[in-house]
Amino acid sequence: MFSYRHAFHAGNHADVLKHTTLIATLRHLMQKEAGITLIDTHAGAGLYRLDGDYTETGGEAKDGVVKLMAALRPAGAEPVAAAPALDDYLDLIASFNPSGLLRVYPGSPFVMHSLLRTESRDRLKLFELHPTDSRTLSANIGQLEAGRQIAVALQDGFEGVKPLLPPPPSATGSKRALVLIDPSYEIKSDYGKVSACIQELIRRFPTGTYLVWYPIIPRPEAHDLPRRLKTLANQAQRPWLHATLAIGQDPTHGPDDRPGLTASGMFVINPPHTLKAALQAALPQLLAILGRGRGKSQSLDTGG
Ligand code: SAM
Repeated sequence: MFSYRHAFHAGNHADVLKHTTLIATLRHLMQKEAGITLIDTHAGAGLYRLDGDYTETGGEAKDGVVKLMAALRPAGAEPVAAAPALDDYLDLIASFNPSGLLRVYPGSPFVMHSLLRTESRDRLKLFELHPTDSRTLSANIGQLEAGRQIAVALQDGFEGVKPLLPPPPSATGSKRALVLIDPSYEIKSDYGKVSACIQELIRRFPTGTYLVWYPIIPRPEAHDLPRRLKTLANQAQRPWLHATLAIGQDPTHGPDDRPGLTASGMFVINPPHTLKAALQAALPQLLAILGRGRGKSQSLDTGG
């Protein structure tokens, strides 16, 4: 069950799409004074070395964050004009790499922590089921000395998130929560678990903001997932946003090379009203920079 290790994939095109969407969503939510509960059901290890053993093997960041950074912030030259959401994403990545060299990639727990307001009542709850990654995550989070503001649980995130919703009221009495559901989908049942979990979470807390990442691969369950999420959102009369990015086939790959993941999507329920415009500007630029060959595309759809 535990063959997937996110370190192989850290900073790839899927992380770029996921974390750009997450940051643009959080930026808007953090404009409101009231505290918010942030929940990451599949947190990973938190921080990844881009020059480490794992990433050297896959090298997926080369076709993701490394390529994006080189195109928009070329070394020794003026930065290129970028969509604000991409600038925001690259600023955050750069803040983890003060030397200017891309050595560290922040996973979703650290992306979320970067936007957390320490003076307010924001809370961050992280679930990670892999014992090694959970230990690494706890150690990485421990260095932040964030105390009770951040909790790490070695627990199934699909189950652990349920009792956390609805979230406790903030000082002003409002209840706010954002949940990121980002499984590895290495087992087929993950697809069904995501839609069942979303159905239960919307029932418990209809106004929460829910972000789901999923791979676009030739598997019926993967095709069905965004359709199911759309149905669930429509049935609950909640607005939704669906963004996809396909970087296309690698033209240097031979017919026997494993293609790897070339496309993924983000489905957001109760997106902030600013997210559509932010991604409308970012996706074409992402495709122009990360797109490689046959099959490249991007899409953005909203409803509800
Ligand atoms: N969200 C992370 C990020 O953006 O940096 C990446 C997460 S990675 C795609 C998925 C993680 O979920 C893996 O680290 C895996 O060990 C973990 N995992 C798998 N099944 C889980 C479950 N049921 N509950 C919590 N974590 C799980």
